[in-house]
Amino acid sequence: MEHITPLSEILDVMRSRTNEDHGLVARAYDYAQTAHGGQKRYSGAPYFVHVSAVGLTLAEMGMDAKVICAGLLHDVIEDAARTEEDITAEFGDEVLALIQGVTKLGKLKYRGVERHVESLRKLLIATAKDIRVIIIKLADRLHNVSTLKYVPEHKRARIALETLEIYAPIANRLSIGSIKGLLEDYAFPYAYPEEYKKVEGIVATHLKNNEQRIEKMYRMMQLELAKNGITDIRGSFRSKRTYSLYKKLIKHDMNIDSIYDILAIRIIVPNIGDCYRALGVAHSIWRPLPGRIKDYIAFPKPNGYQSLHTTVFTGDGSCLEIQIRTPEMDQEAALGVAAHFIYKENINKPGKALPSKFAWVTEVAKLQKVAETGDYMQALRTDFFEDRVFTFTPQGDVVDLPINSTAIDFAYAIHSDIGDHVAGAKVNGKLVSLDTVLRYGDIVDIETKRSAKPSKKWLDYAKTTLAKRHIRQALAAQQK
Ligand code: MN
Repeated sequence: MEHITPLSEILDVMRSRTNEDHGLVARAYDYAQTAHGGQKRYSGAPYFVHVSAVGLTLAEMGMDAKVICAGLLHDVIEDAARTEEDITAEFGDEVLALIQGVTKLGKLKYRGVERHVESLRKLLIATAKDIRVIIIKLADRLHNVSTLKYVPEHKRARIALETLEIYAPIANRLSIGSIKGLLEDYAFPYAYPEEYKKVEGIVATHLKNNEQRIEKMYRMMQLELAKNGITDIRGSFRSKRTYSLYKKLIKHDMNIDSIYDILAIRIIVPNIGDCYRALGVAHSIWRPLPGRIKDYIAFPKPNGYQSLHTTVFTGDGSCLEIQIRTPEMDQEAALGVAAHFIYKENINKPGKALPSKFAWVTEVAKLQKVAETGDYMQALRTDFFEDRVFTFTPQGDVVDLPINSTAIDFAYAIHSDIGDHVAGAKVNGKLVSLDTVLRYGDIVDIETKRSAKPSKKWLDYAKTTLAKRHIRQALAAQQK
C-alpha cells in the first residue's frame, strides 16, 4: 500500500454525494499534499501516501466529509509545521478539534515512554469528548502497521506491541471488528516473531486443504437453507485469524485439537426469524457440540455484538463454527461505534449521551493520572482492555466487568455508594462470599446496610482500579 490514493477513489466510496462535501474533501486532499511536500515515509515513498490512505479508510467506513478531511490533515500540525490558526481559517473549528485530538504531545516536554503514555491519555480524553477522534486514530494506526516492514527494527516491535495491547482492544471494545482483526494480523509477526512462526507451523501441519473443505461445507449449508425457503443469503467462510488463534492456543496449552472454531462460516440472512431457522437447518445437517450454542442475539456481548454461534461436528473429524446474523448485525460487527455516525445519530454531541455499551469511553477519560506511567497502563489494561464478562442485576440490567471481577467490583460498578455499603451478595440466588469471581451471565444481587463499611480485605477482593480507589478513599476516611 505504498502508493498515493487518488482523490477520485476517496470521492467514489464516500457516502455523501453532495458537491459541497466532495469540494471540502478535495480541498483537504490538496492542502495535505502541498503541506507534506517532499516529506518521505521510511519506505522512501511520499509521506502523502500515508494520509491519503487514512482518508480512504475513513471514507470506506462511511464517515462524513469532516472526518475524512481531518484524516487527510491529521499529520499537518505535528509533521508539516502548519499552525492551528491555518487549519481553522481553511477548514473551521470542528476539523481542527478532530486533528488536535490525534496530534501527539510536543517532543520537548515529554520524552520516551512518558511521552507515549501522556499522548495516549490525551487521545483518550479527546475521545471522550468526541468519539470520532479515536476512529481517525485507528485508521492512522491501521496504515502504520500495514507498512511496518519498512520501519526501523528498534521501533517496529514497540509499535506492534502497542497495537496489540492498546489499539486492537480499543477497536474491539468499540466493536469495530473490521479494523481490530487487521491491526492484530499486521502487528502479530513483529510483536511476537517466534510465536508467530510457531502458529504458522501448526496451521501448516494441521490444517491442510482447509479452503476446499470449508467451501464445501458452506455450499452444503446454502443448499439446505434454500430447500427451507431461505434464499436471500450472503455469507463468507474463513480460517481463524492467526493472532486470535494464537491467543486461544495459549489458553489451551498450544494444543490445536481443543480449539473448535478454527474453521468458521458466516451466514447472513434477512431477519431475526431466519437466523433461528438457519440455526435449526445447521443442526439438521450436522450434529452440534453440546454447550457451544451461543445466543448473542438475545444476549448481545457488552460491545453490542449480536449473532448466533454454534459449533458442529462435520463428520470428517473436524469441527466447524457457524455464525448466523442479519445484515444490520453484520454491519454493527464490522463498524461498531462508527456505524452510529453513518445514521447521523451524532451520539456524543453535547446533550447526547453515548449508548451505554460505549459509556466506558467517558470512564477511561476519568482515569486518574498516576505517578508511575506503568500504573496508568496497568489500570487501562485491567479495567478497560482485558476480556470482559457480562453479568446482570436482578432487574436484568447488564453490568459489564473485566474478567475475574468479584461481587465487590460489581457493587462499585453500579454506584460507589452501593460499593461502600455492601453487606452481602447473592449470585444466582445463592449467598456467596464477597471474593467470589463472577462468570458470564451471573445474576448478582447486592445487599447493602448503612452500617456496613469497606475493610482492608476488600482491597484483595477487588480486581478493578475503580473499586480499589473507592475502597482506599473509604479506608482513609475511616481513619480520620
Ligand atoms: Mn499519521
